[in-house]
Amino acid sequence: MSTQNKVNKFVSTLKAPPLTSLQWAPVSDKSIRQSKVWEFMGVLFVVDSATGCRCPIDDNLVHCKLCFYEQVSAGKDGHMLKIYCAKKSTASGNHIAHASQKHKREFQCEAPATSKLAAWLAQSDDTSHSAGNQFESNRDLGCS
Ligand SMILES: [Zn+2]
Repeated sequence: MSTQNKVNKFVSTLKAPPLTSLQWAPVSDKSIRQSKVWEFMGVLFVVDSATGCRCPIDDNLVHCKLCFYEQVSAGKDGHMLKIYCAKKSTASGNHIAHASQKHKREFQCEAPATSKLAAWLAQSDDTSHSAGNQFESNRDLGCS
């Protein structure tokens, strides 16, 4: 209970810890790591520079790794509150949408969309192959 209060203080008082004291780590809970989103959604830890101990900013939140490194590389303009975060229970589709809109990164996740795309890719592959084959056989004909 006391830990929870201490952790929430960061957010409620808007006194965010400096980015240099933060660390991003993948979610360790394997039961929710079935989706690609966990490659970039993880837990932010605050590292105590004196003791080296680290504690999660909020156990119930996951933070975007891409945002985190963006803010870290922004130096003093970077701010913890600009990092996309969401509750662990948030549908992975929201994270996918964030990665797509904010970072222009596409993560394959939803099965129906993926299989549709795969089918489309396979189809266009076939077309280009047969065209190439036709071209090659014509060329062979011309050479002989
Ligand atoms: Zn992000």
